[in-house]
Amino acid sequence: MKETDGDAATRLSLETRLAGLRQPALDRATTWPYSEGELGRFAYQRYDHPLAAEVERVLGELEGGRALLFSCGMAAIAGVVLAFCKPGDAVAVPLGAYVSTSHLISEELSRFGLRLLEFDQTGPPPEEAALVWLEPCSNPMLSFPDLDDSIARAHEHGARVAVDATMLTPVLLRPLEHGADFSVHSATKLLGGHHDLVLGIASCAHDEDVERLHQVRRLVGLIGSPDPAWLLLRSLKTLPLRVRRCSATALELARRLREHPAVESVNYPGLGDEVAARYVSAFGPLVSFVVRGGAAAAQALESSCELIENATSFGGARSTIESRSRWEGERVPLGLLRLSAGLEDVDDLWRDLERALTSL
Ligand code: PLP
Repeated sequence: MKETDGDAATRLSLETRLAGLRQPALDRATTWPYSEGELGRFAYQRYDHPLAAEVERVLGELEGGRALLFSCGMAAIAGVVLAFCKPGDAVAVPLGAYVSTSHLISEELSRFGLRLLEFDQTGPPPEEAALVWLEPCSNPMLSFPDLDDSIARAHEHGARVAVDATMLTPVLLRPLEHGADFSVHSATKLLGGHHDLVLGIASCAHDEDVERLHQVRRLVGLIGSPDPAWLLLRSLKTLPLRVRRCSATALELARRLREHPAVESVNYPGLGDEVAARYVSAFGPLVSFVVRGGAAAAQALESSCELIENATSFGGARSTIESRSRWEGERVPLGLLRLSAGLEDVDDLWRDLERALTSL
């Protein structure tokens, strides 16, 4: 990246490029002076600031597009919908994907004339959608769309396509290379990776779209602040290592869970999802599984885990687990648990899980 410009930089591996990033100073300024009556690149923090610019430079290069920093994943999602949809438009959101994305449309933006179309993303997207949302390794059901096919079909019908790649990060998937118009992330998860920041990213394939999205971000005030942006830049240096490690651990835990008699079913694309395997070499930190005994058993299990923290969110250094049926609007099996593999030793994690499963 910046440190070794030009062709040499692109020949270096992702690990080397990210590890070599220099940590910038934490500039918290909210306003910058005019110079001879002219504003420079930075004028007012809500419009843009140096740490946002640095995050956008690094992520834009990783994604192969132009990235914009948002205050959280939902701000990035809302920004894309507000910028590119108009009254009467239908937004197609996958069933079994992050529930707030569909709630944003059905509970809030429906008042402004948007319609929610839910669909099974393992099949073709609805033809009447103006914006098609895809979520590979969806949260929490871990379904995986045939990206090339879905994106091509959506474009044939004149729709734009946004891919929420939170679960995979640009280390494993770069949606813009598959023809998506937007790649969206909750940077709160793996990109941040330490459960200590909340941010979002939206990257655009087309220059004219980035201008439009920037205008919405500026007017609505959706930009991420300097402090979490600084933390995110720290986190990006270790991103490839963390993504590969937690994906390997998640795969191993999914295999062991599948064999356990207290477990009814396990969702993890690494357990033989052939479509997913065509697109990615690893499948991210989340495993979801259904325990026998419904919601009561799931809640007993989450609270008897000790090493694995009973907490929401995912993608951090520490593994987390939670029963998902408690979340309002989440249409999941009652006994579903969502486990996020962190950076701990896999055998230590398994001992914790196995003990909790045996106590059911
Ligand atoms: N996208 C996915 C797949 C998520 O899981 C989440 C949050 O869990 C979001 C977006 C929203 O991110 P944030 O909480 O940073 O707003």
